[in-house]
Amino acid sequence: MLTWLHRNFVLRPFEGMVKGRNTFRYWGELERTQWLSRTELEYRQLESLRRLLSHSYQNCPYYRCEWDRLGLKPNTVHTLADFHDWPILTKEAIRINRAQMRSSVPGQQMIAKATGGSSGAPLQFDLNLESHERRVAATYRGYNWAGAGPGTKQFFLWGAALGDRTWKQYAKDRLYDWLNRRITINSFEFSRAKVPEFNNRLNRFRPDVIVAYTNPLYAFAQSLEELKQIPYSPRSIVVGAEKIYPFQRELIERVFRAPIFETYGAREFMIIGGECDRHAGLHLTTENLIVEVVDDQGHPTPDGEEGNVVITDLTNYGMPFVRYINGDRAVAGFTECPCGRGLPLLRKVVGRQLDMIDTPDGRRVPGEFFPHLLKDFPAVERFQVVQESNSRVEIRLVLRPGWDDTSRIRLDAELRKVLGSTIAIDVTPVASIPLTAAGKLRVVVRTSGSASELTPSANRTK
Ligand SMILES: [Zn+2]
Repeated sequence: MLTWLHRNFVLRPFEGMVKGRNTFRYWGELERTQWLSRTELEYRQLESLRRLLSHSYQNCPYYRCEWDRLGLKPNTVHTLADFHDWPILTKEAIRINRAQMRSSVPGQQMIAKATGGSSGAPLQFDLNLESHERRVAATYRGYNWAGAGPGTKQFFLWGAALGDRTWKQYAKDRLYDWLNRRITINSFEFSRAKVPEFNNRLNRFRPDVIVAYTNPLYAFAQSLEELKQIPYSPRSIVVGAEKIYPFQRELIERVFRAPIFETYGAREFMIIGGECDRHAGLHLTTENLIVEVVDDQGHPTPDGEEGNVVITDLTNYGMPFVRYINGDRAVAGFTECPCGRGLPLLRKVVGRQLDMIDTPDGRRVPGEFFPHLLKDFPAVERFQVVQESNSRVEIRLVLRPGWDDTSRIRLDAELRKVLGSTIAIDVTPVASIPLTAAGKLRVVVRTSGSASELTPSANRTK
């Protein structure tokens, strides 16, 4: 009842009348289209794709030039399979061609965003307003599968905004929390010492749902169990931002006595997929995105085999992403779900797993902190965090022009705030950062006894 009231008398009027957004309307559409047949959804996907390709060819200099060079014409795409030969878009290409990738259509309202790039290289990009509204709507739907739709009471254990917040920003954050009926606990501050405080806040707030980064929630659950504390049990738990392993799911569900719903998202697109109550895989946001799993040559990976995730955003007309390889790995094969939704299931996201960093005062900082922080330093081209012992951490940076003393001092201060006062922090500019044998960049590397059970071998979960 309260959920319904909050949704319809707070959130809906705020989105619609105050902000003038179509989020709720798009959400309504998505709630209907999820039940269409797979054939119908694919037909619509193809139509959307053809529209997007024509638009990109006509209005984005980068795509026109690239496709002309390869002799590709949007009007030759008659099936989704025709699209499999189109070129892959890399992060590097976006970094070089951002301005030429933007649509030249005048009067489009654009939003600039940045991703920390768990792969270790921050990325700046743009999207148009409608795309933003449609992706928020898709998030409403995905969370709704988990019983965490708009208006539900939500306890967020999430990476909070960094830097010193002015009172205005602080007030805005609190207003945003109130509008969304949530409290936000900063996951970057998680430590064993904080467990009683976090637990108290949870028990007082009594949320419908916990929404969390996987690793801090796992560490929280572990500590609660060790301390023999029984926390408040929400209806459900939504995890995202980090891959969840079966052993983590089992422990978290045991401690909180509630089912976990895994979501898969990215800053570039927001929600890509999420679990429904059958927990049979991740339903893809098929209306907004084409998600492919491909081999290193860009061709579809056979069912059941691991490959690279490649995404085309059907809604971003401001700066189209066409066959963008985001650095994640997944197991190919799009199956059907017994729930009856036409949205295909992605079998499994293998994802990337970042190690945790230990501090001498006993805290464990999730690896996600570093991409989150460094995305705000445009002069950082690549980075790697290396920990050889609990008393010292090294931040290696490949720098672009524009790095100066102010950036260095600001970075030092931000690192100190989260890593504490006793750890030695070395920020080292380097010419390059070597990749792993698999050609991937490891963002956080622990060379001492691993901070968690998440050893790199756990990445190979085929
Ligand atoms: Zn389902």
